[in-house]
Amino acid sequence: MNELTIIVGAGQAGIKAAETLRQKGHDGDILLIGEEAWPPYQRPPLSKAYLKGELAEERLFLKADDYFETADITLMTGARVAAVDPAAHAITLSDGQSMSYSRLLLTTGTRARILPLPGADLSGVHTLRGIDDTKRIGVELARAASVAIIGGGYIGMEFAAVARSMGKQVAVIEAQDRILKRSVAPEISDYFQTLHARHGVRLVLGEGVAGIAGTARAEGVELASGEIVPADLVLVAVGAAPVTELADAAGLAVDRGIVVDEACRTSAPDIFAAGDCTVFPSQRYGRRIGLESVQNAADQAKAAALSMLGEEVVYDPVPWFWSDQYDVKLQIAGLAQGYDRTELVGDPGEGRFALRYFAGDTLLAVDAVNDPRSHMMARKQLAAQAQAMAA
Ligand SMILES: Cc1cc2nc3c(=O)[nH]c(=O)nc-3n(C[C@H](O)[C@H](O)[C@H](O)COP(=O)(O)OP(=O)(O)OC[C@H]3O[C@@H](n4cnc5c(N)ncnc54)[C@H](O)[C@@H]3O)c2cc1C
Repeated sequence: MNELTIIVGAGQAGIKAAETLRQKGHDGDILLIGEEAWPPYQRPPLSKAYLKGELAEERLFLKADDYFETADITLMTGARVAAVDPAAHAITLSDGQSMSYSRLLLTTGTRARILPLPGADLSGVHTLRGIDDTKRIGVELARAASVAIIGGGYIGMEFAAVARSMGKQVAVIEAQDRILKRSVAPEISDYFQTLHARHGVRLVLGEGVAGIAGTARAEGVELASGEIVPADLVLVAVGAAPVTELADAAGLAVDRGIVVDEACRTSAPDIFAAGDCTVFPSQRYGRRIGLESVQNAADQAKAAALSMLGEEVVYDPVPWFWSDQYDVKLQIAGLAQGYDRTELVGDPGEGRFALRYFAGDTLLAVDAVNDPRSHMMARKQLAAQAQAMAA
């Protein structure tokens, strides 16, 4: 019997790993199993161009229809893996079917966090993670006059920009004292707050949410102060949590995400993991980190594929990420946590600048606003700096 590699999760990481195995000449069977009804697709446009109706659905898909046959990769969509048995080297699907693997890769991603609030199950209350969410939201958004977004992170702020560009009345409610606080310095939060305010978004900062108001449908968001922010549509955008239940139940090490080493190996033999669902050791940052980005999904999946083929791999990337809001592109290289000073390059007033984060003399990260050149230079500099430190 041919050896079989099973990949659980047909997203950005899953397809990259399958593709890499084939590119590297692997001739064993490859089975890519995804619970969604769709072939692998990119998620970033779901809160940007696709939500706005400016990107056709087929442009979301990461591979052409005939790719799977040509590359001899078996794709099972609409199929959920219900259990993994590491000792038997087997998985079980939710329909009871079992299969044995030679090697298993978990690329199960994250799912949107929900808020256990009164009224959270009313119709008109949404989270945004997949194509089906954007389709559902798109229909309601077209009809809505007002939108309230709970959470001032990237997805919430991108959604606010799209809704405003469609002429909706938009409010963003953020429990912290500024938006995007988890990843950027106050200077960048200020810039985006001013940008959104200028476009007419109401920002409610430092205020908790008591519940969703409404009877059959959402009619607004009730703040802790008792005020009701009117809304025909509510988006709950309070982050995402790694999907780890398969790994948990199989007894794999899990610590927020599925724990892997620098070669993407989990704590069980022949089981690897990559993408949003993992946490991995970073020499660069001196701690275990988890990343939610296309960069990490693609690069770690590639590393996992090489590792599965027995190549020596040390995955320790320069992380990068982007966000589009109105006509502004924010590009982030590195991780800013632990910085003790920032340096501004360029002029925020002109809408093009970069903010550099340092710990002592060490550059940690660069946020570039409408400045792709600074972003690319930062990625090179961060990579070179790490090489110099390792030498
Ligand atoms: C709206 C939105 C906007 C984004 N914008 C950006 C951006 O601008 N820039 C950026 O860098 N990143 C962005 N991201 C993040 C980026 O899309 C993710 O980091 C990336 O998709 C992670 O890829 P992944 O393969 O690890 O997980 P996913 O793409 O989530 O794929 C995991 C797949 O596994 C499936 N699965 C889970 N459990 C099972 C099971 N038991 N059986 C079968 N299948 C299973 C899931 O259904 C899912 O399809 C955005 C994400 C969202 C949701």
